[in-house]
Amino acid sequence: MEPTVIQDLGEFYGNHLFIKREDLIPYSFGGNKARKGILFFQDVDKGNYDSVVTYGSSHSNHCRVIANLAAERGIDSVIIGPEEVSDQTFNSQMMKLFGSKIITVPVNRVHDAIEEKLTELKNNGKNPYFIPGGGHGNIGTEAYVQCYEEIRKQGLFDYIFFASGTGTTHAGLVCGKLINNGPEQIVGISIARKNPKGRQVVLDSIREYMEDDVRANDATIFIDDYIGAGYGKENTEIKQTIIEVLVRYGIPLDATYTAKAFNGMQTYIQKQGIKGMKILFIHTGGTPLFFDNMKVL
Ligand SMILES: *Cc1c(COP(=O)(O)O)cnc(C)c1O
Repeated sequence: MEPTVIQDLGEFYGNHLFIKREDLIPYSFGGNKARKGILFFQDVDKGNYDSVVTYGSSHSNHCRVIANLAAERGIDSVIIGPEEVSDQTFNSQMMKLFGSKIITVPVNRVHDAIEEKLTELKNNGKNPYFIPGGGHGNIGTEAYVQCYEEIRKQGLFDYIFFASGTGTTHAGLVCGKLINNGPEQIVGISIARKNPKGRQVVLDSIREYMEDDVRANDATIFIDDYIGAGYGKENTEIKQTIIEVLVRYGIPLDATYTAKAFNGMQTYIQKQGIKGMKILFIHTGGTPLFFDNMKVL
């Protein structure tokens, strides 16, 4: 993959702000799910698979990218999702366009439904490849180790901020830092999970990838102060951030991930009295969600 651009956004509360445009990865509206999905499909392409199974809601950027990657190859994609979040979005419309088979079940049945579907496909002589929700797991972590190394070739920053959801992006960046003895502070802004569990999930992903618990513990900064009303819930402040960033820089953010993280970063920098630093914000994508948000903006 070609490196994604790092743009200079200039002065930011006494610091110098840069943004890495992962949203401009040139595949299926980009984003961190594209970087992870492309790597998962390198694995799919090595085997004799005729279908992929994954899970996520109708809002899922991950499911849209996986559906696109499968459709491109002419193999089936099955998406298991929670009934509770199954309203129509631009992502869900694209999944349908890609011909995904979408199965919705109550959220507490998702795990069993995945197992049942995989068994059913195998019993029917199919060879399915399972991709964890959000592109979680070592392949997803590896995608962000690669991203970390890409950043280091582009420049050195004092801080790296981004939205932390399943924690895979976070884990990959921290592993990249540990492997390369990076000096920067890697700060994940949680969009839903609380401490200590949210941070533990990141640490578990790091441990699955590499064994370096002591350094991993020191290097994992998981901030849960900016979750607001919870996953996917926007508020006036988040809406304001979306409008401000769009007006000032011409960059779209979404309410679930990137605007929450940008807003969290902004407050964190002021609260911590951070000044004179080079700060990188990773734009992790979610452009279709930006358009879903238009009706509430
Ligand atoms: C999934 C997602 C995230 C969170 O990434 P994780 O690796 O799951 O922590 C952040 N931003 C966007 C736009 C996403 O779709």
